[in-house]
Amino acid sequence: MVPVPESKFQNRNSKIEICMPSPAPQLSVVIPVYNEALNLPPLFARLYAVLDALGRPYEVIFTNDGSADNSYALLQARHAARPDVTRVIDFNTNYGQHMAIMAAFERVRGEVIVTLDADLQNPPEEIPKLLAQIAAGHDYVGGFRVDRQDSWFRTNASRLVNYVREQTTNIKMTDQGCMLRAYTRPVVEAIVRSGAINTFIPALAYSYSSNPAEVAVKHEERHSGVSNYSFYQLIRLNFDLITGFSLAPLQYFTMFAMACAGGSLLLVLVLAYRRIFVGVEVDGVFTLFGILFFLLSVAMIGIGLIGEYVGRTYQVVRARQRYHVRELLETK
Ligand code: UDP
Ligand code: MG
Repeated sequence: MVPVPESKFQNRNSKIEICMPSPAPQLSVVIPVYNEALNLPPLFARLYAVLDALGRPYEVIFTNDGSADNSYALLQARHAARPDVTRVIDFNTNYGQHMAIMAAFERVRGEVIVTLDADLQNPPEEIPKLLAQIAAGHDYVGGFRVDRQDSWFRTNASRLVNYVREQTTNIKMTDQGCMLRAYTRPVVEAIVRSGAINTFIPALAYSYSSNPAEVAVKHEERHSGVSNYSFYQLIRLNFDLITGFSLAPLQYFTMFAMACAGGSLLLVLVLAYRRIFVGVEVDGVFTLFGILFFLLSVAMIGIGLIGEYVGRTYQVVRARQRYHVRELLETK
């Protein structure tokens, strides 16, 4: 495309604007949307105001992740109102937040990409903070939430999984759950090329970046509605994070199993000694049952853990299309 001076596009009265193609966006903002009808109008108002004020070409890509409310109708209306800067990907069903982001990553046109949530928990007004870090030379900037506005349970469960992730993977980040993040294009391209399944975008981005940074960002209460993540989905997401980035759980488990085996062997030796030198005993039979049940549960956890990895391998081997786009609203 022929490069066109930016100023021509900012002058809304200029005739040139009508016949010229939109300038290549420098910034792509990616937002996954799942049942956010009540949050979209205030999001549009705040987000576009921030982006317009930046004074550089941008695009916003929304992925409608199979919403059951009228989120998609609102996105269609937004596209009709601002077709120059709005693109909408419509999934046929719900594939999850990270896949929704992935679909947008595969289509971004900007040199810098920003992700944020649609529920206004990530204030759009914080975007310039991230962009400043990218301008300072970082290729990936993660936000971490100060004064987090989530339930006590959510906040502390997050602390726990952050800790487990720190111990089991070599990914270092203060707040993995914060989606207010900025990436340079090469990092996003590497994420897309990885073809990761059941992925966790912040961790993938970290593994492909060479000069990451973090900034404190504000966190607000969900504007409307409740979190789309059930307890089960949160567990799944965090399993994916750990098993998708590390074999450490298998290795730790094997070490633990070896320690158990050593302990059991000792117990067998003690019992054998007593059987020979003391005689037949029935005492302690329930203690033995206790030990047996414990070992049995350890074995069951091991089977589950192996299952997690086998499941991931199965998905990779199956190589099925990861999502299906029903409709794409965009101006060429
Ligand atoms: N989301 C999505 N698909 C899902 C679940 C969530 O696209 O299956 C979007 C949701 O619309 C929001 C973001 O991901 O923009 C974060 O979701 P939510 O606020 O429910 O998560 P929480 O803030 O509780 O982690
Ligand atoms: Mg939220």
